[in-house]
Amino acid sequence: MSKEQLLFCPLGGSGEIGMNMNLYAYGKEDNQKWIVVDMGVTFADDSIPGIDLIFPDPGFILDKKDDLLGIVLTHAHEDHIGAVAHIWPSLKCKMYATPFTAELIQEKFKEKKIDILPYLKIVPLNSKIKLGPFEIDFVTLTHSILEPNGLSISTPLGTILHTGDWKIDPNPLIGGTIDEKKLKEIGEKGVESMICDSTNIFNPGRAGSESDVRDSLLKIMEIKTQRILVTSFASNVARMESIFYCAKKTGRSICLVGRSMNRIYKAAKKCGYLKGLLEPLEPRNAKKIAKNKILYLATGSQGEPMGAMNRIVNGIHPEVFFRVR
Ligand SMILES: [Zn+2]
Repeated sequence: MSKEQLLFCPLGGSGEIGMNMNLYAYGKEDNQKWIVVDMGVTFADDSIPGIDLIFPDPGFILDKKDDLLGIVLTHAHEDHIGAVAHIWPSLKCKMYATPFTAELIQEKFKEKKIDILPYLKIVPLNSKIKLGPFEIDFVTLTHSILEPNGLSISTPLGTILHTGDWKIDPNPLIGGTIDEKKLKEIGEKGVESMICDSTNIFNPGRAGSESDVRDSLLKIMEIKTQRILVTSFASNVARMESIFYCAKKTGRSICLVGRSMNRIYKAAKKCGYLKGLLEPLEPRNAKKIAKNKILYLATGSQGEPMGAMNRIVNGIHPEVFFRVR
């Protein structure tokens, strides 16, 4: 008779950046139950002309979908959730995510005209779910997005700590701090393996805290006398809040430019973040504000050709005009 096994099977994201999709299985060889952790995409570059998005080949798990217990999502970056609306229709299983991630997932399915709510289970922060032989404990970490969760996945054969993405920020300014106590407890109980993902892990040194970034940005903005345009990843809600903070401190109104900046702003507000801030202006109203009284926060921080920043600096944005010398 075969023995029970605990398997880890990455379909994407291991040894590469992007398109994270990790599978775990538990059971005897002829009766294994599976879970999927994350379902992300990679954005293609110029080396693959005609292709915009790449996601993992789900064929392996499609063959086993009757034994699939659910998809668990660690956080809302596109390289972790970008493929759900593409792959899920072939799986039609339950999905588990914390509130902010769940909000953005719902938007993805709305675009595809799919009502995902009956399948989407919203997991409170730092709580547990049970999927067959897997007991999954969500652990709040810190990262460049709201609600990054590590997963402590316990099975009768031991515990795996699946970290998702993280950076240790002692002062993240928004959202929870890293749940050090819970991590210690998990460690004391014993971890069989840690599946860990953090960009630049091999570079020694420390990444700065968001609070240091906020202080520096304010110093720079205080001496500016013309319009200010800031670009950032839309999903970095702490950075967004820092820019709102700087606008208020420097007596400027703020205007959000770009679809994803507005989408993330609304999702964060809906989940109870970004409280007590200035009300952002629409671009058509921001045009009327004096140059030294307005700050724009735009998408396109990676120079995407259709991102708001690129269109503004090239003078082709329909509503935001800057004279670039
Ligand atoms: Zn991430």
